[in-house]
Amino acid sequence: MSSAPKLASRRAFFSGLRGLPADTGETHTPNIIRPPWSWGFEDHCTACGDCIPACPENIIKAGPDGHPEIDFTKGECTFCEACADACNEPVFDRSAPAPWHLDVSVSSKCFAENGVYCRSCGDVCPESAIRIIPQLGGRARVLIDDDICTGCGACFAACPVDAISIAPTTERTHG
Ligand code: SF4
Ligand code: SF4
Ligand code: SF4
Repeated sequence: MSSAPKLASRRAFFSGLRGLPADTGETHTPNIIRPPWSWGFEDHCTACGDCIPACPENIIKAGPDGHPEIDFTKGECTFCEACADACNEPVFDRSAPAPWHLDVSVSSKCFAENGVYCRSCGDVCPESAIRIIPQLGGRARVLIDDDICTGCGACFAACPVDAISIAPTTERTHG
């Protein structure tokens, strides 16, 4: 998949993280996004499912192994912390410097990059992290500012051609 360029290499918001939600003991599937602040899946998540109905945005679902996964097709994370409040295990660490560590990218399917007028992702981004810059020939470049993006996922479902991908980064800063 080709990606639109990023305005900045990494966002300070995502720096200094102590682990990755997707890097769990029960699965190594790279694109699974765990609930925000959930750093202890491999050791502590019992797959009880209590966090799933707690999410007012209905974006947490049970994965094949019963462990919670984020589904941005249903909506965006508002960082309300209800999932963390519902969990009785030491899975969530809200003292972490960031709720998660995600990369948001735009593929070559993007309407704007192919000369079709579209501002859907930019219109819904609550952080104004997406810039759509006109180019010659009616095309546009879609730029995501990593320094502003929170990984909320609002842009994911807004894209009419599924050009936006959100996945955990492959970085890991502690064991
Ligand atoms: S922080 Fe709130 S909106 Fe985000 S996944 Fe948890 S419960 Fe849902
Ligand atoms: S409430 Fe906690 S232990 Fe239960 S499934 Fe969610 S993260 Fe796992
Ligand atoms: S994930 Fe959220 S903050 Fe980041 S670009 Fe998409 S809508 Fe904006």
